[in-house]
Amino acid sequence: MKISPTVGKCYLVGAGPGDIGLVTLRAKECIEEADVVIYDYLSNREMLRWAKPDAELIYAGKKAKDHTLKQGEINQLLIERTQAGKVVTRLKGGDPMVFGRGGEEAEDLVKAGLSYEIVPGISSTIAGPAYAGIPVTHRDCNAQLTIFTGHEDPTKPESTVDYAKLGNTIGTKVMLMGVERLGKITKTMLDGGVDKDQPVALVRWATTGQQRTLTGTVETIAEKVVSTGFKAPAVAVFGEVVKYHDKLNWFEQRPLFGKRIVVTRTRKQAGGLSRKLCLLGADVYELPTIRIEPPKDILDFGELVRDAHTYDWLVFTSPNGVEAFFELFYKIYKDAREIGGVKIAAIGPGTEAKIREYHLTVDLMPQKFVGEGLIDAFKEETIENQTVMWVKAETTREVVGAELSKMGAIVDEAVAYRTVPETEDVTGAVARFQEEGADLITFTSSSTVDCFMGLGLPMPKELQVASIGPITSQSLVKHGLDIAVEAEQHDIPGLVDAILSLE
Ligand code: SAH
Repeated sequence: MKISPTVGKCYLVGAGPGDIGLVTLRAKECIEEADVVIYDYLSNREMLRWAKPDAELIYAGKKAKDHTLKQGEINQLLIERTQAGKVVTRLKGGDPMVFGRGGEEAEDLVKAGLSYEIVPGISSTIAGPAYAGIPVTHRDCNAQLTIFTGHEDPTKPESTVDYAKLGNTIGTKVMLMGVERLGKITKTMLDGGVDKDQPVALVRWATTGQQRTLTGTVETIAEKVVSTGFKAPAVAVFGEVVKYHDKLNWFEQRPLFGKRIVVTRTRKQAGGLSRKLCLLGADVYELPTIRIEPPKDILDFGELVRDAHTYDWLVFTSPNGVEAFFELFYKIYKDAREIGGVKIAAIGPGTEAKIREYHLTVDLMPQKFVGEGLIDAFKEETIENQTVMWVKAETTREVVGAELSKMGAIVDEAVAYRTVPETEDVTGAVARFQEEGADLITFTSSSTVDCFMGLGLPMPKELQVASIGPITSQSLVKHGLDIAVEAEQHDIPGLVDAILSLE
């Protein structure tokens, strides 16, 4: 069938099992390109950050019994938006064709004469066992893998799934959507002669910081689900390979495993800290509280940037300042040499790293990464009568400028950006914080503290607070919060070390 070039395109995309690192590069491209993103309950919402700012984001999630949009309505939505000439990305947990109804959606798109693509994803059927240290195949025990759904009620006469036969099948059997019916399913298996001692594992929220594994046998697992309050979504694995869980349980043994941590930074900056904590096993979610905006007087800042080469020193006290400065610098100039012979000071390694991104080296960096530390470092330099441009946020504390002036320097303040409260919450983090709370919350600046407290969210009693350094801690104390730990080294790696020290 010929496809009209004026109509849009629909991508049916596997969103992977949960861990954002397990999403394909193609999936990321499809989200970046999309005018409309339709996502479901199992797709990690952090991916929505890759969407264009004006993309339409539609939740089509389903939890059992609680259908937000019916399948027919979802198909209709895909067709309508695609017909309207949009690029539509339909995100589905795991792989779209493994119990994902991707086949049905593709059929309807074909029927409507629309253009589509299928992007496979890592299915929870494979990733779930792997993250629980269970190899779905192993030369010592099996050569066969069977995947089935536990969604069908075995007591219904029209059930097409023969659970007893599946239970008796050799090799590894992986079952999706079966937690609620596990009691009935295992009873049907036992009645059908399945070995009662066959090992079974359930892996809940596999590959995420919320992963839990429960092991037992065909005879005991349903009872264990009830007694431990184990809930869906989970992948169930039946077979000898379950025995490897104890030996190969790499994921659940990481140092921060099971700890729920909230990261408060700007959306753009949160990623680095979140990823580090995730890789240490924490269940991390980002609650961006601040956003960076241009300064009110951009012309004033522009003039200072233009004249940067006339100064003796450029002093940067945050990575945001560096970024704002050089973005404007390269709008004014085409050549890095226009910066002249000016010397550069950075308050700490994060700011230094940002400066390096622009292929410049730092001449001065303090031992202690706070304003006072920077002043101490300048005491080793001859700063009297030197001209200094201090690139800062609107609300940065005055200490650097005031102290340098006292030391005889001629200081110009270049207000490079403002931090304003973040009002967008695409990932639903605020609701999550209200519903689930957290074990620990991180703060990396006074403005994140002020803006977070400005949200007026109830603070759970057991919530621990981690602070990047003394200035942030002062703001926390001002708001009446207890600090569980303050980083010794006032940067992101220092903060991560501090959190690890709490264990
Ligand atoms: N297309 C998906 C499966 C969708 S069916 C895939 O390929 O993974 C929904 C079922 O998938 C859930 O009921 C649960 O059994 C399983 N599932 C999906 N993601 C999961 C996860 N992160 N952890 C555990 N089970 C998961």
